[in-house]
Amino acid sequence: MIKQAKRMEDAPLSKIREIMSRATYLSEQGRDIINLGIGEPDYETPKYIVNAMKNAVDEGKTHYPPVPGIPQLRESIAKKLNKESHTLYTPDEILVTNGVSHGIFLAIMSFLNEGDEILIPSPAYLAYMTTPKIAGAVVKYYDLTEESGYQIDIGNLESQITPKTKMIVLISPNNPTGTILNEDTLKNISKIAIKNDLIVVTDEIYKEIVYDGKEVASIAALPGMKERTILLNGFSKYYAMTGWRLGYIASCKELLDPMMRLIFYSVTSANTFVQWAGIEALAGDDNPCKDMVKEYERRRNLIYEGINSIAGISCIKPEGAFYVFVNIKSLGITSNDFCNYILEECGVATIPGHVFGEQEEGYVRMSYANSYENIEKAIERIRSGVENLKK
Ligand code: PLP
Repeated sequence: MIKQAKRMEDAPLSKIREIMSRATYLSEQGRDIINLGIGEPDYETPKYIVNAMKNAVDEGKTHYPPVPGIPQLRESIAKKLNKESHTLYTPDEILVTNGVSHGIFLAIMSFLNEGDEILIPSPAYLAYMTTPKIAGAVVKYYDLTEESGYQIDIGNLESQITPKTKMIVLISPNNPTGTILNEDTLKNISKIAIKNDLIVVTDEIYKEIVYDGKEVASIAALPGMKERTILLNGFSKYYAMTGWRLGYIASCKELLDPMMRLIFYSVTSANTFVQWAGIEALAGDDNPCKDMVKEYERRRNLIYEGINSIAGISCIKPEGAFYVFVNIKSLGITSNDFCNYILEECGVATIPGHVFGEQEEGYVRMSYANSYENIEKAIERIRSGVENLKK
């Protein structure tokens, strides 16, 4: 019998996709399902970006691009980062990737050997749990506790570091908690990273989806950090371009070099006309994206108040991204059972907390990248579902 490579044995398909398939199946059977499961904008990509892609195709921009990306795109990305995050990147310190997922893959595969340890937050976006295992690395978690508003407990994080620790991952704003890491935390982590000679991966994919006038600082801008930081960002969320698969890595040349070679050996490069659309996304008027963020903020307020008005469940107020991480512990059922029940009986798709970390039992992620009206309806369905559970 032909067997998969050993490295793939511990890499199941995402549980999120499984739940989404079930939700789609139920919809196809005629059920009215509200999807609070998937983490993607419910908006179409803004027209000015779509038109740029169409023009690029019409103009014959359909050939192989340079492996690290089209120079104009790398230049615009460097400019944007330096302006908004106070970093000091040159265009040749930018690599264009097939989405941030690809950036995660390149960073982990280029630097982690078998047995190396990677420290990731719990909870975290699931690719950070599985990709290191494919590399044979060991995943260790540092806690983001609800009591601290999902900030990092520096002592706890430091206590997880061993001589084998090579990489630490920061996600700000975080998926699934929506928390932004504060500047003091970033400073403390930079000191720990320098002292222990660690690579820091900072995932800033939700950087522009923030509320209450908040801003997201980048650890890459702190003294001594550019040379050990791999900054990941992309176009999927803010520009509503999940299906286009466009992202980027910013880092010093020394760190970028193996990742660029791995791009060549994995996908050759990101798609040419999508990169041209990316150039226009950054150069054009992004008011449609700003409007989306305003609307996410309105929905954030709605879901935050709605969830906390239901006796037995609660969540903290997210500062960014488009998720609430709901505490269901007092209901006395597993988050898996809760999600199955709420989907099958109430027609609302949500994701169990353990998908985001082994210790996240008792939590459920709900995405508010859905219409205001649907969120209103979903809250009422969840309210009656929870009341029935308590009977
Ligand atoms: N990083 C985080 C924190 C995410 O939440 C996601 C998607 O949900 C990704 C990366 C993947 O993004 P992309 O669509 O650019 O691959």
